[in-house]
Amino acid sequence: MKTLIIERDKLVENIQCIKERTSSTVIAVLKGNGYGLGIVDFARLLTENGIDFFAVSELSEAMVLRENGFTNKILLLASTSLPQEAELIVSNNIIATVGSVNSSVTINEAAKKLGVTAEVHLKIDTGFGRFGFLPGQIDNYYSLLKSFDNMKIAGTYSHLSFSFAKKTKLVQNQFDLFIKCAEGLKQNGIDTGILHICNSCAFLKYESMHLDAVRVGSAFLGRIPIENKYGLSRIGVLKSQIIEFKDLPSNSYIGYANTCKTKRNTRIGIVPVGYKDGFGVEKIRDTFRLRDILRYVYNDLKQWKKRMYVRVNGKRARILGRISMYNIIIDLTGIDAEIGDEVLLDINPIFTESSVKREML
Ligand SMILES: *Cc1c(COP(=O)(O)O)cnc(C)c1O
Repeated sequence: MKTLIIERDKLVENIQCIKERTSSTVIAVLKGNGYGLGIVDFARLLTENGIDFFAVSELSEAMVLRENGFTNKILLLASTSLPQEAELIVSNNIIATVGSVNSSVTINEAAKKLGVTAEVHLKIDTGFGRFGFLPGQIDNYYSLLKSFDNMKIAGTYSHLSFSFAKKTKLVQNQFDLFIKCAEGLKQNGIDTGILHICNSCAFLKYESMHLDAVRVGSAFLGRIPIENKYGLSRIGVLKSQIIEFKDLPSNSYIGYANTCKTKRNTRIGIVPVGYKDGFGVEKIRDTFRLRDILRYVYNDLKQWKKRMYVRVNGKRARILGRISMYNIIIDLTGIDAEIGDEVLLDINPIFTESSVKREML
């Protein structure tokens, strides 16, 4: 039995904390099933707390929101040139991202066919190399952009590639380039609509870059790849149980690769939670693969040396040895615990298997 507990009070506090940090519109990013919180429940909580502009990565996520009765603004963060998708986007009143000539033609055609005006946000690629017009490219399309009668530009945005790092200069360069592109559009008679570039890290670190809106995802969960000095609580607790006990003599090895050896008689408990459930996934990424250590070198380096603990009956119990696919082994020496007792583990909901039941308490 496993349940992902989402503490509603803490989540609401995080939402308030985020709203208080800015006078710009907060666009709540709900990709990945609402960062694993459950997209519908999370969207409902956000709406109740005054955030009514959403963004998603996939059309299917936007459709889930519409099917559940959400009439809020939804920005689809992926630019698409597929006609079938464009029709669904437009007919469901989803704000399309237009990041290429192809996608703008496709969206405009779909809107014309449906006899409506499609609301879109233009995407500028200021250095991420994914969706968006390159700055040098958009200059050539001013007149084309103005020619689309069934498309209204309600916003213009870009995405930062280094907001989590101490690379302020690179962030500033992308920001400056974005502003330059927006100015170019305006000077050529194109209304850019609202401007936005910040994701969670940039939103927290660079107040001067908030512009008209900020796109916030991970900050709602207080799980950000920068030091959390913003008063955001970590959301996500996995609830499981002790299913087995055993007393091991001293000098016994525990787990794969013999990384742990008991120094005394040790009472161990087994908890049926592992990588499969998303537990410790962030940890392996940082701990065991050199190339990932290098890749995530900007993260809190201290973290991957840290011991990991779970909570049993209000006490901290240390995880012994490596986490495996289905189970963890915990040290219950000196802890009053029985088979079936509840075990609480810190987990990032975005990595938590979708089959694990979510409970918002
Ligand atoms: C995921 C995403 C965000 C939100 O990122 P966080 O760092 O989780 O806040 C914002 N903008 C775009 C384009 C994204 O893909």
